[in-house]
Formats: sequence, C-alpha cells, structure tokens
Amino acid sequence: MNGNAAAKTQPGCQFASDNTAGACPEALAGFLEANEGCQLSYGNDAYTPAVADRLRELFGLDCDVYFVFNGTAANSLAVSTCCQPYHSVICADVAHLETDECGGPEFFSGGAKLLLATSVHGKLEVPSVEELVTRRTDIHYPKPHVLSITQSTELGTVYTLDELAELGTAAKRLGLKVHMDGARFANAVAALDVPPGEIIRAAQVDVLCLGGAKIGLPIGEAVIFFNRKLAADFAYRCKQAGQLASKMRFLTAPWLGLLSNDAWLKHARHGNAMAHRLSTGLQRLPGVEVLHPTDANAVFVALPEQVHRHLAERGWRYYTFIGRGSARFMCSWATALADVDELLADVSVVISAR
Ligand SMILES: *Cc1c(COP(=O)(O)O)cnc(C)c1O
Repeated sequence: MNGNAAAKTQPGCQFASDNTAGACPEALAGFLEANEGCQLSYGNDAYTPAVADRLRELFGLDCDVYFVFNGTAANSLAVSTCCQPYHSVICADVAHLETDECGGPEFFSGGAKLLLATSVHGKLEVPSVEELVTRRTDIHYPKPHVLSITQSTELGTVYTLDELAELGTAAKRLGLKVHMDGARFANAVAALDVPPGEIIRAAQVDVLCLGGAKIGLPIGEAVIFFNRKLAADFAYRCKQAGQLASKMRFLTAPWLGLLSNDAWLKHARHGNAMAHRLSTGLQRLPGVEVLHPTDANAVFVALPEQVHRHLAERGWRYYTFIGRGSARFMCSWATALADVDELLADVSVVISAR
C-alpha cells in the first residue's frame, strides 16, 4: 500500500462546501451496523422502514418516505412527480433547481419549465410569485403548477414561519403544489428552533427533499411526501432514474444514527454557530462586507482582491460563483473552531496591512 496520507487529505477545503466533510460518527456507526449479516435488497431490509417511521415521528405528520442518492435526483424526481410536461415550476432565480441541476427537473418532468422569481437574499416573495402565475392565463404559457421553496436558502438565509405561511397560503390560493428543497433543512430547523413539522405546516409543503449528505450522512437524501397521493408511482420513477439502491440499507441505516438522540440537530446547530462566529468576525474588519444575513451555516462576503490572493496562497478553498462575485464560506458539522479563527486571522492580516 502506498502510505502517502498527505495525498489523501485536502487541507484548506473545509469551507468550500458543507459536503467536503466526512460522515459524522453517528451516521458512520449506523452504516457499519448495517454491514452485519445479510438483509433483503431494494428497501426490504430492516432499516429502511424504521427510518421512515422515525421520520414520521420526527415530523409528527403522516407521510411517505423514499431514499435517493443525491439532491439533484431528489429535487428533479419530486418536482416531476408534481408536474405534467406542460406545467411550470416557480422558483427563486438563485435556486439550486435552476442553477445547479443541469436541467434535471426539466428533463425528468419531460419538459416542465422553470419560471424564475426575483429573490431578496435568496428568498421568494409573494408579489413576484403571484405576478408569474397571473401574468398570463392563455394556452401559450406553461401552466404554473408548483412553487419550489429552498429552506435554508442558497444564500444562507432562513425563511421565518410567517414568511413560509405567506408563501404557502399564496401557493394554495393560486393552485400550486409546494415543493421544498431542504438540502439544508436541518440548519433551518436549528436556526428557527421549532419542531420540523411546523415548517412543513406553515408552508403547506406537499413534498420535501430532505438533505442528508450536507448534515453528516456519507451519501443520500430523503424525499418525503406529506401529500401522499403524489407518491403513488414514485417508486417507479426512482427505479427508472437509476435511483433505487439495491443495497438500500447502506443508504438508510446511517439516517437512524443521524436521527437518534437529535444528532442531526446538534450538528446543524454547530454548523450555524461556526458560521455565525465567522460572520461576526468578518464584519468587524474594514473593507469586508457580509452580503446576506448569516441565518444558517453559510457566510457570503465581498473581500478585497488582495485578500483573495492571500487566502489562495494560504491554501484556502471556497466558491466564488454563487451569489455573484462574493466569496462563500460554508460551515458543517465538522467545522473546527480553530479553523474559523485561522481563516479570520488570515483575512485580517491582509486588512491590517492595507
Ligand atoms: C447541495 C444542494 C442540493 C443537492 O445537490 P447534489 O449535489 O445533487 O446532492 C440541492 N439543493 C441545494 C439548495 C443544495 O445546496
């Protein structure tokens, strides 16, 4: 074996995304436990129904639960379940659905079109949703059928329950189904400090894509139908799309670990707290501007060019393509406080030398 451990780690990438972290210990324990002995395949194992029950208990709502490999599949398949090919899906202009899924929702729905609503700090507002829905009523316009809400948002903000209730009420009044992209749902729950079911109820969510990977699973997301009628043929959709895991237990058993003793919530709170520390520290530095409220686990900042150069030399990796020219620093369950402080120190060294 080549023992070159250095080649296997990539220091400096801890803020690049919340999916650069490994699996959290609780999820990993679940994964390893599932490796004992044989289990029936394709979801007929002992773990998969137990996770679905646990999720029903967590949300306090009746629902149908499915598991897929990633968020793009979860969103694309969930949205396509709600749509005919001539329908449209209203989402924010910065929605992952629009910017990061390579046309997956349109492809899997067989042609449904995304209609982009202007957003403020990543959040949809009722007037722009309503304008898109009521702009036209003729047969030449793709019929608006779904409202997609991301909670927490791509720009690190979190809708309040009141904001969600306004959107949910408007959606139902306008005849729209509600899809929630919850890739970072856990961070929103931690930020709002409410039971998860409250978010679902407020926004009148029909289908939630619940993120697993970013909160500590090795892999996988859940698709949860609170409107159970929509789930009728969903298993077929998953299978056809190549999203039915044969060794399903490895996709689901880690959830049991993550969901036990509220580990997911502890991890979400940690990620949010680290982002808050980073955001607060950056805001104290002259010439650094925090661009969006740090409600959850993401920090978006405008940094002077010299800072970018210095951070690159120091080996820090982060995205600059999300949210127009800003730097995005993501925190996760695994973000170390010492790393936050080291990053802050590397930024402030340049600021104080200017
Ligand atoms: C990460 C993310 C997803 C899922 O992306 P995959 O890479 O396909 O797993 C979905 N929505 C949002 C808002 C995300 O940040």
